[in-house]
Amino acid sequence: MANNTIKLKKKELVANDTMAFHWEMPEGFEFKAGQLTHIKLINPEEIDEEGTQRALSLVYAPSENELVTATRLRDSAFKRELKDLPEGSEVEFDGANGSFTLHKTESTPAVFLIGGIGITPIRSMIAEATNQQTDHDLTLLYSNKTPDDAPFLSDLEDMEKRNPHFTFVPVMTRADENEWNGETGHIDADMLKRYVSDINKPIYYLSGPGGMIKAMQEMLIEAGVNEDNIRTEEFPGY
Ligand SMILES: Cc1cc2nc3c(=O)[nH]c(=O)nc-3n(C[C@H](O)[C@H](O)[C@H](O)COP(=O)(O)OP(=O)(O)OC[C@H]3O[C@@H](n4cnc5c(N)ncnc54)[C@H](O)[C@@H]3O)c2cc1C
Repeated sequence: MANNTIKLKKKELVANDTMAFHWEMPEGFEFKAGQLTHIKLINPEEIDEEGTQRALSLVYAPSENELVTATRLRDSAFKRELKDLPEGSEVEFDGANGSFTLHKTESTPAVFLIGGIGITPIRSMIAEATNQQTDHDLTLLYSNKTPDDAPFLSDLEDMEKRNPHFTFVPVMTRADENEWNGETGHIDADMLKRYVSDINKPIYYLSGPGGMIKAMQEMLIEAGVNEDNIRTEEFPGY
């Protein structure tokens, strides 16, 4: 890993047990929406067997000019140290990596089937397409237990208002029915077909914990979607 450092500007809770970290943008830093970086703690007090470094997707778009990562605060040494990192602290990072980026052909629709923290690279892609006013037809089915568990829910609602080509479908699996009148239950082929008229046309993007990716992959293939049109980014450790 290259020996660059970045400084923590701000931490914020963006959902239950979910924290976003805003880092100072290094001069000349360039990345593509959907890419990730590796964050490595410097001299942490506590280290466990998974070590001091994790891959984390860049949550904001290049056009938002903010370097942000976000994670569920689980009980690993890395996450405990990161959560308590004082603002102004430095970590090592290795720039932008990965090829999980939105396809270029704007006439081909994109469908994102996402659960929870898997939203991180997708928020970046949708924000970039919205800010650059591309013609991509974008549909996001975004599953969480309750609205309070859904990172960046209000950002996505705002993007839907600004982008006439973006359809946002938040889906709650355990919401109180008196407080939630949107989609409920698990994302399945029937739900997909309510929002996507020709399911063979889009490129599908799946990111996040392996269980969710596997379930969505199986659902799509069973529904007849060509495997070549499914792109995945698995987050291990969840
Ligand atoms: C391309 C990419 C992008 C990612 N983006 C994000 C993101 O935006 N936000 C986010 O929160 N996480 C992201 N991750 C996952 C992240 O790197 C951590 O793995 C995850 O957050 C879990 O970390 P942890 O410290 O909670 O658990 P860990 O202590 O790392 O792991 C918990 C459990 O998972 C097992 N485990 C850990 N790593 C692996 C592995 N590689 N293979 C199999 N089992 C493993 C451990 O043995 C342990 O049992 C991304 C991963 C990749 C590869």
